[in-house]
Amino acid sequence: MKEKKHYSGFISIIGNPNVGKSTLMNALTGINLSIITKKAQTTRHRILGILSGDNYQMVLSDTPGIIKPAYQMQNSMMTFVKEAINDADILIYMISIGEKDINNESYLKRIKNSKVPVIVLINKIDESNQYDVEKSVKNWKNILPKASVYPISALKNFFMKELLEILKKMLPEGQEFFPKDQITDKPERFFVNEAIRSEILSQYNKEIPYSVEVETEEFSEDDNIIKILSVILVERETQKGIIIGHKGQKLKSVGTASRKVLEHFFQKKIFMQLRVKVLKNWRSDKNQLKRFGYRN
Ligand code: GDP
Ligand code: MG
Repeated sequence: MKEKKHYSGFISIIGNPNVGKSTLMNALTGINLSIITKKAQTTRHRILGILSGDNYQMVLSDTPGIIKPAYQMQNSMMTFVKEAINDADILIYMISIGEKDINNESYLKRIKNSKVPVIVLINKIDESNQYDVEKSVKNWKNILPKASVYPISALKNFFMKELLEILKKMLPEGQEFFPKDQITDKPERFFVNEAIRSEILSQYNKEIPYSVEVETEEFSEDDNIIKILSVILVERETQKGIIIGHKGQKLKSVGTASRKVLEHFFQKKIFMQLRVKVLKNWRSDKNQLKRFGYRN
């Protein structure tokens, strides 16, 4: 009897900040693995989303937006991007229709020279019109002649099913990389940290969200409840006060909102405690960055 063929591959989503990479990842996997906000640099890590079927496995990578690094943490964020480019079987380069400049020439060069198939996705076409979409498709076919170019809307789920079919057909033959029921490479604590960070991104202004890292010290689960103790780390004493807020109101609000998101994510009741600690200038400290899972 002939054995059934199996297909598998790494698909990396890269592009400038805010173009909708994380929205695409969540739309394709159907799970909110990546946090999404209006702010740039929301995604700090490479996050895998694994989609499996009987005869295939796609390993999608959501990555941080391409930026010129200003401090050590951003260096590490760009290392994640480079790794995702290097080990991809299929590259997705995402742009948003309103985007004016390419402003990442060196990355574009890597993509041009890539030996693997490239797909350009022009996102947010729900905010545009046919004329501008056609113009953009033409423009990108010029810039990357070997790539396939598709207009999409990750937010409105436009072209998502079609894209999945296209990706499936492009997968090379190969075995699965992960057990078929696994959906991501990240542990539960990572999603707790990200849910809290997401609330901080939306509830505080200016530099506060960028100075914050979250570490979950306790995650214990029984049949009925998950107990969580997480620590919000800031770079300076003044930031600690801002995070906590008057009579602890701000921190409480972060706790309540992230607990709700996590109860939905884990489908279980959650008891959550939050603490705030100062860890001086952690973003520039290689040892601290290592502890939070950044590399360099
Ligand atoms: P990333 O930084 O590339 O990961 O981008 P995100 O996925 O975090 O999205 C950035 C912002 O763009 C968020 O406010 C999203 O809701 C929004 N966005 C993403 N996809 C679309 C889309 O197809 N249409 C519109 N109008 N907005 C989108
Ligand atoms: Mg993102």
